Amino acid sequence: MKIVHLAAEFAPLAKAGGLGDVLVGLTRGLIKLKADVSVIIPKYGFLPPLPSLKEVATFQCTEQGQSYTNKMWSCEVENCHLLLLEAFHPKNYFNRPQIYGEVDDVARFLYFSKASLEYLKNQAPDILHIHDWHTAGSAILAKDLFQLKSSVLLTIHNASYQGRCASWDLDAIGLKGQEYLQKLHDDQYPNAINLLKGGIVYADCVNTVSPTYAEEILTPEIGGPLSATFRQYKNKLHGILNGIDQSIWNPATDKNLPALYSKTEKAIEIINHKQLILSELQKRFGLGDNKRPWIGAITRLVHQKGPELLEEALRQTIQNGGSYLLLGSSPDPKIQHHFDQLKMKYADNKNVFFYFEYNESLAHQFYSCLDFLIMPSNFEPCGLSQLIAMRYGTIPIVRKTGGLKDTVFDLEDETIPSKKRNGFVFENATKEDLKHAIQRAIQFFMNKQDEYQFLVRRVMQQDFSWDKPTLEYLKLYKKII
Ligand code: ADP
Repeated sequence: MKIVHLAAEFAPLAKAGGLGDVLVGLTRGLIKLKADVSVIIPKYGFLPPLPSLKEVATFQCTEQGQSYTNKMWSCEVENCHLLLLEAFHPKNYFNRPQIYGEVDDVARFLYFSKASLEYLKNQAPDILHIHDWHTAGSAILAKDLFQLKSSVLLTIHNASYQGRCASWDLDAIGLKGQEYLQKLHDDQYPNAINLLKGGIVYADCVNTVSPTYAEEILTPEIGGPLSATFRQYKNKLHGILNGIDQSIWNPATDKNLPALYSKTEKAIEIINHKQLILSELQKRFGLGDNKRPWIGAITRLVHQKGPELLEEALRQTIQNGGSYLLLGSSPDPKIQHHFDQLKMKYADNKNVFFYFEYNESLAHQFYSCLDFLIMPSNFEPCGLSQLIAMRYGTIPIVRKTGGLKDTVFDLEDETIPSKKRNGFVFENATKEDLKHAIQRAIQFFMNKQDEYQFLVRRVMQQDFSWDKPTLEYLKLYKKII
C-alpha cells in the first residue's frame, strides 16, 4: 500500500504546532510497520540546508491560465521520505518567513495542493492522506480535476481553521468556482467557499485527532456553523487519538536537557534530575530561588487555549504559593499586547516567568522542569502538550474537553480505575473551576509529596506512543481502498 501525505508542516523542519509533530510521528509509526509512505510539504525558504537533497522531477502547474515551473526534491529527514515542492512562481509562495499568516494563504495552499497532484497524477498512491484546510482543496481537485485513483483520507487537526475563500480562488486553480458554491458554501458567509467543508464532502473518509472531539464537532458549540456538515457526513467521521513520538520526546536521551532521567529510575532520582534541570534554568534566566511547585504552559496564545484562564492560572498559582511560567506567543497582536502588559506588571515578581517566543529547545527544558502543566483550553482537538508533559514527569491540569478528556483522568475521579488517574481535571471554562483544580494540585504537591513523586514516575510510564494510533490509521486506509 502506497501512502502519500500532503501537509503544511513536518517537525522539526517546519512546525507551527501539533500538526508538524503528528506528521513526523505518524509517518515514523507507518515506517515501523513497513508501509511505503512519503510526505509532501512546500520547500519553504526558511528550511535549513538538507544534506541528502535530490531533485526528482520538473513539471508545470497552471494558475489563472499561466503555466509555472515546479521542482520536486526528495530527502530523508528523521528517517522519513520527504518530498519538497519548489514553485517558481512570481509570488514566491513559499519563500516567506512563516508557514501561515500571509494574506494570500488560500492561494498559496491551493497552488501547493494542485502542484502536488500534478506531480502525483501519473503515480497515484493508494492513499492520499491530507491534513486540515491547507490541503483540503486537494480532495476536490483529486476527484474533479485529476480523476486520481487514490482514496482520500482527510484528517482534521483543528476544525476552527477552515480556509474560507472566494469562488474565483477555485477558478484560479482550474475549477469552476461558481458551480461549487451550492455544495461547498460557507454556512456563515454563504457567498464564500469553505475549503475544509470541501475536504469533508469530497474525501472518502474523515477523522479528527481524538474520539471526544469527533463527537463534539457535531454540536454547534464546538463545531460552529460547520457542525451541520459534520452531522450530514457523520457516517464517514472517525476519531483517532494522536500519539507522540517517544524517541523525539524522551527525557532519557533528549539532547536539549542538561541532565537525563528515565522512567525506570526511582521516583526520587527522577525528581532530583528534574530539580537539577530547573536549577540550570534558574541560573540561566537569573530567577533566583523560587517557590515550588512550578505550574506552567507551553502554548500558542489563541482563544482555543483559554488565554483568560491562563492569566487566572498565574494569579491562582502565586496566591497559593507556587511559581508560574509561560512559554508562548500570540499571532493576535491584541492578545500579545495584553500578555506583554502582564509581563510588565509582574516584572518584579521572581515567581513569575514569561518567555514570548517559539523555542523548541526551551520547550523541551520547560516540559521537564515544570511540576504541573496547565491547559485550560476552550476546546482541544487532541492536545499534544499534556502528553509530552507526562512523558517528562510533569502532571497535567486540564479542562475536560476534546483530547484532554480522552487522555487526562482526575486523581479523585472514582469512576476511573485508580491506575489510569494521572492529573487534575476541571469541567467548565470558568475561573472558579480552574481555581479549585489549581488549589487541589498545589495542596497535593505540598501535603502529599510521596504520592506526588509516585505519580510523576507513573505518568512517565504510560504509553502515548504512535503504536496504537498507527494501527488504527492502517485499518482506516484498508477500509477505504
Ligand atoms: P496546537 O497544535 O493546537 O498548538 P498541541 O498541544 O497539539 O497544540 O501541540 C503544540 C505543539 O507545539 C507541542 O509540540 C508544543 O510543545 C509546541 N509548542 C507550543 N508553543 C510552543 C513554543 N512557544 N515554543 C516551542 N514549542 C511550542
